Amino acid sequence: MPRTVHVIGAGLAGLAAAVRLAARGASVVVHEAAGQAGGRCRSYHDPALDIVIDNGNHLLLSANRAALSYLETIGAGAGLVGPAAADFAFMDIVSGERWTLRINAGRLPWWIFDAKRRVPGTTAGDYLSFAWLLCASDEKTICEVVKCAGPLYERLARPLWLAALNTEPKEGSAGLAGTIIRETLAAGGKACRPFIARDGLGSVFVEPALGFLAARKVKVQFGHRLRAFDFAQDSVASLDFGEDKVAIDGSDGVILAVPPVVAADLVPDLTVPSEFRAIVNAHFRLEPPAGLAPIIGIVNGTIEWLFSFPDRLSITISAADRFLDVPRETLARELWEEVAIVAGLPKALPPWQIVRERRATFAATPGENAKRPPAMTAWSNLFLAGDWTRTGLPATIEGAIRSGNRAADLVGEM
Ligand SMILES: Cc1cc2nc3c(=O)[nH]c(=O)nc-3n(C[C@H](O)[C@H](O)[C@H](O)COP(=O)(O)OP(=O)(O)OC[C@H]3O[C@@H](n4cnc5c(N)ncnc54)[C@H](O)[C@@H]3O)c2cc1C
Repeated sequence: MPRTVHVIGAGLAGLAAAVRLAARGASVVVHEAAGQAGGRCRSYHDPALDIVIDNGNHLLLSANRAALSYLETIGAGAGLVGPAAADFAFMDIVSGERWTLRINAGRLPWWIFDAKRRVPGTTAGDYLSFAWLLCASDEKTICEVVKCAGPLYERLARPLWLAALNTEPKEGSAGLAGTIIRETLAAGGKACRPFIARDGLGSVFVEPALGFLAARKVKVQFGHRLRAFDFAQDSVASLDFGEDKVAIDGSDGVILAVPPVVAADLVPDLTVPSEFRAIVNAHFRLEPPAGLAPIIGIVNGTIEWLFSFPDRLSITISAADRFLDVPRETLARELWEEVAIVAGLPKALPPWQIVRERRATFAATPGENAKRPPAMTAWSNLFLAGDWTRTGLPATIEGAIRSGNRAADLVGEM
């Protein structure tokens, strides 16, 4: 075990690495450029709504074993809520049809043979075509491997892949989609239960982690942006934070858990994904109507998922670059019209907020996926973490946490 491990970046990858190392009794220091931890998975008080909201709605599945285990470790396992079974409410906003997908718990997928459990308008045979993705080449797009048309595609496959990859299936990586299928649908409903952090991402993923680290004397330095590394032969020799420098002993380890563009600036000759996709979230402050499902998938609309929180309704649109320049008020009104239809609410626009994350995730195309570097670098004491590193998963909480765990394990072997 190194003398001290410096973790750069306190997003979920950096926090997961720090938590794993601190749990093993390592001496850890975390350096975060921003004034708060959580990175792309954070909560904050929104002045327009006067409530705490998340930068984006984050959906997890029971298949996300590293994320669930991280939450257990930091004592926040109870913070995720969701239905007891893998039930997904959907609505086709054009036809008005509503249905609930009910995936049975075991591996044998008998739900696809039950017209009341599967997607309306589909047959059991349609689902078997998904299996082609399980052995798809990493060089192919989803739509080169499976048929991207018809009710199953429009009503389940496209919403699922778009949400998981944040990339349109016609350009999305078949290999990454195959991993999602393998870890979720192919593993049965027990792996597909949806979860959300009902009381906010911060209170579930971030604050308990900071508490766990503080209790183990881990120093987390906010406003401490790494400007450069000084390298000596095959290792990092010091960390340059501009105002101060931290010398790195040969027996110290460094985990770099920053976004890919920042990592490429800091580490010579590092190849990283360089294309990104946006996610748009809109939050509407009101008490949700009684009986509204906590998560609803919307087909044939602009909004894709509607999340119901105690003090607001929030929507998510993935691969949402086309909305980045739409005036905020116009967007809020258009989105609310759909929310009002789905939730059965009046047309009057309630207090709203739009959050547009331009670089929400790297574009999960075959080309960008191929650019993801492994955790090990050319420097013996420097390891990479982040949802964009070579995790085999798309950019997700689960991928970020697995990457942090992997970097922590590697640094522990130094
Ligand atoms: C709107 C939105 C919705 C999403 N929805 C989902 C979802 O439903 N389900 C899901 O699983 N995932 C979702 N994701 C993806 C998920 O949020 C990310 O995969 C995850 O948070 C990435 O964590 P990370 O630690 O890899 O990166 P980041 O969160 O980007 O963390 C990097 C950290 O490094 C810090 N930093 C940057 N430069 C420096 C520097 N020079 N020195 C020190 N620190 C630095 C940053 O401030 C940041 O805190 C969503 C993302 C967004 C944006």
